[in-house]
Amino acid sequence: MRLILLGPPGAGKGTQATRLTEKYGIPQLSTGDMLRAAVKAQTPIGLKARAVMESGALVSDEIVVGIIADRIEEPDAHNGFILDGFPRTVAQAEALDALLARKHIRIDAAIELVVDAPKLIARIVNRAAQAQAAGHAVRKDDDPEVFKTRLEAYFRDTAAVTPHYRAKGLLREVDGMAGIGAVSKAIDAILASAS
Ligand code: AMP
Repeated sequence: MRLILLGPPGAGKGTQATRLTEKYGIPQLSTGDMLRAAVKAQTPIGLKARAVMESGALVSDEIVVGIIADRIEEPDAHNGFILDGFPRTVAQAEALDALLARKHIRIDAAIELVVDAPKLIARIVNRAAQAQAAGHAVRKDDDPEVFKTRLEAYFRDTAAVTPHYRAKGLLREVDGMAGIGAVSKAIDAILASAS
């Protein structure tokens, strides 16, 4: 099973990807997680990406395509994977198409979690407040102002990725404002008919 999860930041892609990882025994390839690990380890990529990420803007296509190209080669991704947070631009989607074509593999479905922006901001403000109340560190990019920049980047650059997969007949839309259980059910129904 090779899946792409699409949708704005805070839509629940990470939650669904984690669940699907367990269900299908395939890894979640989250460029956000990989970049955060690179920042923490202060690798050359991490050093380059840090300020961009903290501002809520997108890291360069070249960096993220390179990260994904390497990650897809790892043995645990041979039988499938869930892409979470990638591709985020049409150029990334085209680079992924070329990468997969070279490997003679195909995506089974691109699932978009459809959400509305004002509700999303409320959700993220809540997430930051809960983390703070529990004594956890709040992700710098979950700061409400930075989150707005991330949403703007989404609507400016990433929303155009959806038509890319629609044109290929791979796009499936799910109501991302429903509860986690309902979203899970809707995704499972789609995957049951895709496999
Ligand atoms: P995420 O956890 O997926 O919301 O990603 C956190 C941040 O990492 C984003 O706001 C971007 O700065 C960066 N990032 C993650 N994935 C990508 C991507 N595919 N293209 C560009 N930047 C990315």
